[in-house]
Amino acid sequence: MSISRFGALDTILNRSKDELDYVDIPDAKISEFFGCNVFNDAAMQKYLTPKAFNEVKSAINSDEKLSREQADVVADGMKRWAMDHGVTHYTHWFQPLTGRTAEKHDSFFTLTPDGQVLEEFDGDTLVQQEPDGSSFPGGGLRSTFEARGYTAWDPSSPAFIFEVGEGKTLCIPTIFVTYGGDSLDYKLPLLKSQSYIEEAAVPVCQFFDSNVTQVKTTLGWEQEYFLVDEAMFNARPDLMLTGRTLLGKHSTKGQQLDDHYFGSIPERVFAYMRDLETECHKLGIPVRTRHNEVGPGQYELAPMFEETNLAVDHNQLLMDVMDRVAIRHKLRVLLHEKPFAGVNGSGKHNNWSMATNTGKNLLSPGKNPRMNLRFLTFFVNTIQAVYNHADLLRASVASASNDHRLGANEAPPAIISVFIGDTLTKVLESIEKGKDEDGGGVEEILDLLSKIPNLELDNTDRNRTSPFAFTGNKFEIRMAGSSMNCAAPMTIMNTIVGKQLKEFYASVEALKAEGKDQEGAIFEVIRQYVIDSKAIRFEGDGYSEEWKKEAAERGLSNTPNTPDALGAYISKSSKDLFLTSGVFTEKELDAHYEVMCENYILKLQIESRTMSEMVINHIIPAAIKYQTILAENVNSLMGIGLHESTYNAQKELLIEISEHINKAKDGIDKMSKASKKADKEGHADKQAKAYATKVKPLMEKIREQADELEYLVEDSEWPLVKYRELMFLR
Ligand code: ADP
Ligand code: MG
Repeated sequence: MSISRFGALDTILNRSKDELDYVDIPDAKISEFFGCNVFNDAAMQKYLTPKAFNEVKSAINSDEKLSREQADVVADGMKRWAMDHGVTHYTHWFQPLTGRTAEKHDSFFTLTPDGQVLEEFDGDTLVQQEPDGSSFPGGGLRSTFEARGYTAWDPSSPAFIFEVGEGKTLCIPTIFVTYGGDSLDYKLPLLKSQSYIEEAAVPVCQFFDSNVTQVKTTLGWEQEYFLVDEAMFNARPDLMLTGRTLLGKHSTKGQQLDDHYFGSIPERVFAYMRDLETECHKLGIPVRTRHNEVGPGQYELAPMFEETNLAVDHNQLLMDVMDRVAIRHKLRVLLHEKPFAGVNGSGKHNNWSMATNTGKNLLSPGKNPRMNLRFLTFFVNTIQAVYNHADLLRASVASASNDHRLGANEAPPAIISVFIGDTLTKVLESIEKGKDEDGGGVEEILDLLSKIPNLELDNTDRNRTSPFAFTGNKFEIRMAGSSMNCAAPMTIMNTIVGKQLKEFYASVEALKAEGKDQEGAIFEVIRQYVIDSKAIRFEGDGYSEEWKKEAAERGLSNTPNTPDALGAYISKSSKDLFLTSGVFTEKELDAHYEVMCENYILKLQIESRTMSEMVINHIIPAAIKYQTILAENVNSLMGIGLHESTYNAQKELLIEISEHINKAKDGIDKMSKASKKADKEGHADKQAKAYATKVKPLMEKIREQADELEYLVEDSEWPLVKYRELMFLR
């Protein structure tokens, strides 16, 4: 039996203040313990010989593999470092397509055949493992005879120590693949996309600066989340099983007054944040910003940006740490994109840019016009890439939970458009007009570009309704959902921009071969892109109905549900893109698509079943009890001979309640039939579509009935924790 609503409320009222404002924060400055649980450069220098250290560093930078002997040396250093920190176990840490992380712990401790007890960890164990992966989603990539998945060390993300209570585990970031090397995770495609964009971007950078030999993409995520009390969480089966409230009448006060956003942080939440930040800092996650968000009980934290692969790992790790730290504070974190109807959902903005080994941000306007030509090159190529592959970018953030945000008039619309602000719009407009056919307007444009450094000022008034916005020196991908692995949209960004840069390079070289000077050639291609991609640029209100119409006229797609959006992964143009870039093989892509469809189906199955149980086991019985009370009351009043007018209200309530009970029950029956029918659809994509179009609308109808009953039924008879109790945490 789950905790009752009143049990939960009692528990909360009886808690001591000390229990609630629990803090255990070190006195030291952050700089004294930042990264203390990471096998970073400092730790490596201490535990590895200079030779081994250099070998690891150059392997990371050149994608070259370490030899078996070299891996042994690194493993030995890692083991000594970990054991000096009290670590007993190690695990390969990976990111299967479930969306969260996975680990299987093994002890360093071992017994040799002759009975010796040893602590062991060698290069082989560091480099590769075979966790029994047969239960992870694989979309048919693994036939049963090769059901195992293999994890392989990714030296570009440093190993770290994860502390749970007193236990400490050495975690080794890995990729997860089949026996044949096909990816079963988010990481391998991401790493491939990074190599691809680097290979494409370096030659383009060399148009401007021959010292550039490396280009990395950077990611700064912003994580939104809700906090609820643990007792209330445990009293809501829907929160426990699905991460969101499937039912619940909106609180009369929600976010209308805008009094939560950037408001003062409640003490209990503040204690949680500080504790969380400390854990993050020990793990080398550079979190810096914390504040209240728009929804009551909603918060955000953001780090300094990092190289994308590391930033992805850090966000995955963060989500795990958030859950664990919350438990210490008798709280639960809701990372779901839409835990509560009627208030804002949670997103995870992905700020994306590209940086060179010479320390330049390629999306940062330079100090002089010529450097701004470089800026403009990367800026316009990114827009062109998004224009060509908007559907794919949309697909990369599609999930059952994110469907509650995108297009729901609070979060970015499901239509992808690019916001760039006034100044840059003017620049692109002048480029479009141009001076004359053969790019003779370069000087004039360069002059215009000299005005770009004012950009950050211009962008202070940012358009919050845009799903993809340029914010001064990076693009901000706002469609990503709060619970999502950032690797999915990052892989797509890297791949589409990589492809675009390759095309750009080829076009510029072709013009040069015809005798054009380099600047003129670059300018001519940019100008063509500005013209071609114009339809994707939109500065207006992305939430408005007019935009939906205009977007359709412009030929932009609008796919508010996941099964429709996911189709973009397997379209002809996506397949070509993935195969030429090598980011996915055809087999991997089909498998990835299937897993995404399956994830959608499973989420909806769990939600619809949980909803049925709640309505049948909690809501209808409560309504019936109150119905009986009303009926008895009417009966007694009638019995003592009172006039009908004295029990009119009771009768009306009775009738209303009966109607809602009948409709709710009827909805459940229909939903059960629709789910059974959907489950019989042969292919995962058909099944997913049936859930989206047949089952989900019924869930909404049932909810309406249940929420009406919540309004009508006496408070003391109502079994579920109410919205006002859940959201206004003290
Ligand atoms: P806002 O909430 O206004 O969008 P924040 O300051 O919360 O702004 O977030 C900005 C995010 O952008 C931070 O996570 C920051 O690290 C990130 N960021 C800044 N510069 C870059 C860059 N060059 N590449 C990637 N991310 C960046
Ligand atoms: Mg932001």
